[in-house]
Formats: sequence, C-alpha cells, structure tokens
Amino acid sequence: MEKDIVCGMEVDEGSDCNSLVNGRIFYFCSEECKNKFDKNPIKYIR
Ligand SMILES: [Zn+2]
Repeated sequence: MEKDIVCGMEVDEGSDCNSLVNGRIFYFCSEECKNKFDKNPIKYIR
C-alpha cells in the first residue's frame, strides 16, 4: 500500500491516479486529490 499524501488515505499502488515528480511516483485515492497535488506538489512533498 501507498499513502495518499493529500488526504492521508492508504491507496493501492495499481491506482490510475498517480503523478511522477522528481523520479518518484505518488499515488492518490481520487482524481480530486491528484489534481490538488498537481497544482502545487511542493506543498505536499517534504
Ligand atoms: Zn485522497
């Protein structure tokens, strides 16, 4: 399992909602969380 860093939910790594940033893939529970992340990835990556 991967963690959705926008809402904190556990997400299956086969999820289609994912984004590649700095060579790392981030997974999301929904398009909504992915869109929030894509708008401002720096806010979520620490
Ligand atoms: Zn989410």
